[in-house]
Amino acid sequence: MLEDLKLRIIRSAVAAEQSGLCRQRSGNFSMIDRERGLIVISPSALDRNTIEIDDIPVISMNGDIVEKGKRARASTEYPMHIKAYETRADISSVIHTHSEYATVFAVKGKPIKPVVFEAFFYGVRTAVAKYGRPGTARLAESVVDPLRDADVCLLKNHGVLVVGGAIEETLLKAQYVEDVAKLYYLSICLGNGAPDVIPAEEFELYKEETARNNIPSNSRAAEQTAGYACPDGY
Ligand SMILES: [Zn+2]
Repeated sequence: MLEDLKLRIIRSAVAAEQSGLCRQRSGNFSMIDRERGLIVISPSALDRNTIEIDDIPVISMNGDIVEKGKRARASTEYPMHIKAYETRADISSVIHTHSEYATVFAVKGKPIKPVVFEAFFYGVRTAVAKYGRPGTARLAESVVDPLRDADVCLLKNHGVLVVGGAIEETLLKAQYVEDVAKLYYLSICLGNGAPDVIPAEEFELYKEETARNNIPSNSRAAEQTAGYACPDGY
């Protein structure tokens, strides 16, 4: 069932592991078939290089198992994935990582400021969720409000949740989040005051230029850029 989605989950998980975005088998990946109300989600704690299509479980929006994975259960974070799909009818994939620099800001409970233009590709904003222990209903509930405001949610003392359309685009967004977090962090380390943030008007102009030049960009990200205002201070 849903073999094509399962294959894309495996490819994304392997790519995330290889790029260093999801180390030590951390992180989880899902896609939804909205018409059938089914979620395909990565299995818990398997070596990503050995995962096969039969290992990928399918669950319902209630969390019921529709199709078991051959060797392992669905990721323990499935309630958070379900909550993300309930909150955002416009998304079709969810990726959760513990990527290093972005998680530093999640630990501190501080948004990642848009200091370079790569922020455009995930919608400029990042929103911080309240603390919840991994795998709990509290953690799942914590992402609801942040996801109403952004595609990128920083999970307090834990990691990052990124939502989007095609899972390949969502993976790219997760990589951009990590890249911007690293540059922002290093800019802070240089000292001499807080790093300059790119103003909202600049992202507006960038959006117009990319549209005029037919540069492909995430449509939701482009929409979200509208009306963005950089908060003061760090
Ligand atoms: Zn996690």
